[in-house]
Amino acid sequence: MTINRRTFLAALTAAPAATLVSGQAQAESSPAKTGLPPVLHQFSLGDARVTVFLDGHLPLGPQLFANYDAQKANAVLAQGLHQMTPEGVNIPVNGYLVERGSEKMLIDAGTADLMGPNLGAMGAGLAALGVTPAEISMILLTHMHPDHSGGLVASDGTAVFPNAELVVSQVEWAFWHDDAIMASVPEGSRAFFQMARMTVAPYQNRLRLIDGETAVVAGITSLPLPGHTPGHMGYMLDSGGQQLLFWGDIIHSTALQFAYPDWTIAFDTDPVLTATTRHKMLDRAASEGLLLTGSHIDFPGLGRVLRQSEGYRYQAAPWQFGL
Ligand SMILES: [Zn+2]
Repeated sequence: MTINRRTFLAALTAAPAATLVSGQAQAESSPAKTGLPPVLHQFSLGDARVTVFLDGHLPLGPQLFANYDAQKANAVLAQGLHQMTPEGVNIPVNGYLVERGSEKMLIDAGTADLMGPNLGAMGAGLAALGVTPAEISMILLTHMHPDHSGGLVASDGTAVFPNAELVVSQVEWAFWHDDAIMASVPEGSRAFFQMARMTVAPYQNRLRLIDGETAVVAGITSLPLPGHTPGHMGYMLDSGGQQLLFWGDIIHSTALQFAYPDWTIAFDTDPVLTATTRHKMLDRAASEGLLLTGSHIDFPGLGRVLRQSEGYRYQAAPWQFGL
């Protein structure tokens, strides 16, 4: 089976409760856009330099959210200046480069050409910085959904990053490679398993599977955040006395889910655990004033969590200058 954009969209439309039909129609009718421009935000954290790449965007239709309430949604969308388009709320897909001295690591890899013409700009971003794929020494995945792992492989299935060690949760790896689990899900959802396997396959001989809170390398510690996927991981970067949490997909919609953490999304493997993990993470982030970034946090993707009388809200950091 060839995995491509059509397969991915078919998987989405067939997934239980996941009907991005309007998104599919839009993608199919749009002329193919190639060469999205690089969009990136760079800042320093202690001795490290972090770059957030805007890989592109995705629409999330209201039907994808559990517990969705249109009146509440419209109120928080308006408050945050977010728009509800006919396709849904647009969310960004972000990926990261972390540089320390000559060491260059990615946290997630964008989508490359796996998910259509509105995504795939992370490669152009790396090129704009003059970073070649061969220079990347390590890639830390938050999880194995295609908006995070798609950029690992070229369209012919070969590794984009020839020298990088791939770091993934053991639980995550086992889940997506379990034939019995794959056979038990609705047929349309099996493409997610096939895509997950395809994107990591060329890295099998330079793979590091991690478990729990692990010092992945000096200054980067994994943080299990299960629910969205079984092995979903955050990563905490400690550098020069400062901390930045990369929390993966704790939030898909900045507009909706800070305010309403129980509004899980159709792609959550375990919605109940997702909501529990999200509540715990938001509570901790607000209590500790954590600086954080997320794969779908509104670009430029750096901020913190503030508590409200009901739920939470996101406070975006201003654009960082003076590298
Ligand atoms: Zn994601």
